[in-house]
Amino acid sequence: MNMDVRTFPDQPRLLISRDAIHHNLRLIRQRLLPGTKICAMVKADAYGHGADLICDTLCNFESDHLPTPAVDILGVGCMEEAAGLAETSLPVLVLRAVENGYVGPARQAIEHAIRAGWVLTIGSCSCADDIARIAMSLHKRAMVHVMIDSGMTRCGCSIESLSELLKKIDSQTSLSLYSLGTHLATADAPNDPYIIEQLGRFRSATDSFINQRERKPIRTVANSGGIFFAPATHMNMVRPGISMYGIDPTCTPNMNRPLKPVAKWVANLISILDAKAGACIGYGRTWRADRDTRIGLVPVGYADGYSRCFGGRAMMIVNGVGVPVVGRVSMDLVTLDLHDVPQAQIGDDVVVMDDDPMSPASPYALADLANTIPYELLTRIGPRVKRVPTQRFATESTEHTEVGVGD
Ligand SMILES: *Cc1c(COP(=O)(O)O)cnc(C)c1O
Repeated sequence: MNMDVRTFPDQPRLLISRDAIHHNLRLIRQRLLPGTKICAMVKADAYGHGADLICDTLCNFESDHLPTPAVDILGVGCMEEAAGLAETSLPVLVLRAVENGYVGPARQAIEHAIRAGWVLTIGSCSCADDIARIAMSLHKRAMVHVMIDSGMTRCGCSIESLSELLKKIDSQTSLSLYSLGTHLATADAPNDPYIIEQLGRFRSATDSFINQRERKPIRTVANSGGIFFAPATHMNMVRPGISMYGIDPTCTPNMNRPLKPVAKWVANLISILDAKAGACIGYGRTWRADRDTRIGLVPVGYADGYSRCFGGRAMMIVNGVGVPVVGRVSMDLVTLDLHDVPQAQIGDDVVVMDDDPMSPASPYALADLANTIPYELLTRIGPRVKRVPTQRFATESTEHTEVGVGD
């Protein structure tokens, strides 16, 4: 028997709204000139949302004012992630640069990548040579992307060595240059002048190369911040990640860009106990009831990515009311003070992380409490939390309607 969330309906789950993804992509497309391509970043299991589900939504679901597929290409961090994606008609861009590919186990992965038609990132001439020779031996042409370091100083081809690398690629008939890109260091800060400085370096390093070519490779600079804050960075293709998942690139909600969080983390109350005034809750006895109350148990813990630092600080939502997480967060359990929701019963839904940006349990609020950003919070949500697609029916209510997975 196939045991899934329908078998265990009360299992903690991450509800993924296909409508919210489409909504966010519409907001993104509105900022772009027609014809600008979108590379949807689905690295790190689609920022924790479940790459299968997100790619399925992007490729196979129709939505108003969006093409189907809704994006032009998928971006992943490494070849293992590309291999984990379901069959798709879209190109796949692998961001981590290939190194030392010709010998050893990396070669098999590169052969697979070339056969699959993935766009491989290269940062050096030796890497270009390796891929070219492997492609030649397969009688295939490898698609390549050159990531240029325009001032983030982390990875990519230096501007000084770029022309040599481009000559090398041109001289190899088994290589096809798909795109040239760079990554912005400060695009999360609107109006940061360094965005334009990096763009200027990228353009002066690539303009003449592009202008003198008949078949022009794509140029791509913008992540989510670039999309919203620096239109000059859009060029031929943008690479949204966090904004597609409904989080503002500044990591603070902004109503000028009403992005909708795609994920809502829900669990159920598995028990409720009566605690007398003076009782201490959980490990270390860190919280003491100052009045008689009821303590609710939620089967989510730090092993699921619900940070231990939320103990005594975060809120969850029960029957529409924010209730405090009291005592320490355990590996598998969290305790709530249900004093303000006397009607709460075993089995009731608990919102662990809300999809309302203004909720006290929003990804913004939780990330702030954990002294991090929503990116980290989302990518840490563990595998026990089942990713479940939902559809919103705008005419009925704003509630999620869960639909089964694997139908
Ligand atoms: C992750 C990533 C992105 C997406 O960034 P967001 O800030 O999430 O939009 C874009 N480009 C590259 C190279 C990345 O690694």
